[in-house]
Amino acid sequence: MSSIYKQLAAEFQKGIKDGSIVTTPPPTKDTSSSKKVALTFDDGPHPTITMEILDLLDKYNAKATFFVVGNRIDRYSDVLIETFERGHEIGNHTWNHTNLTTISTNQVKEQLSSTNNAIKKAIGQYPTVFRPPYGAKNNQVVSVIELPVIMWTIDTLDWKYRNASNLLPMVKKSMHNNAIILMHDIHQSTADGLESVLKYLQEQGYEFVTVSEILQYK
Ligand code: ZN
Repeated sequence: MSSIYKQLAAEFQKGIKDGSIVTTPPPTKDTSSSKKVALTFDDGPHPTITMEILDLLDKYNAKATFFVVGNRIDRYSDVLIETFERGHEIGNHTWNHTNLTTISTNQVKEQLSSTNNAIKKAIGQYPTVFRPPYGAKNNQVVSVIELPVIMWTIDTLDWKYRNASNLLPMVKKSMHNNAIILMHDIHQSTADGLESVLKYLQEQGYEFVTVSEILQYK
């Protein structure tokens, strides 16, 4: 009798040990994966509008990316320097906003290198990213571009509406994590509507980062 008891007890103990007291750890929370958004501004630098945008970005501790047009750089080099010194990323947006799919390969190279050199001359560094005007590209164009070619995931159509109160609704309706938002720092309406966008996205928990930072998370 006592031997049976011993055996049962052993089985009973084994049962507990094997099956029952297993705790599942809670899913680990990845603290590095906060929501991120890349605000991008094309076609500048602009002497007043870019500066207004820079002040708004500072107010929200936001970093952004500016795709600049080469032939504006000499005239507004102080604006470009200011943009760079405040910690924003500088991108190449061709020399004169040409549709690259309509010109020769050599002309594409010239559009890129002249703008790269103008940026380097102004800020002491080459740009880190490229965006084609109108988003127009093909394999031949892409093959000669040595920088990451950056498109966008949300087009605010700010160039079309030119209406400050339209900016936030355009962002809201398509917003997603790691979004790349297309805007233009040559339209006053974009500067006027930007604070509502910054405020909303900040409330939603987004961190404002450069395009190159977003690419690391994609
Ligand atoms: Zn453009």
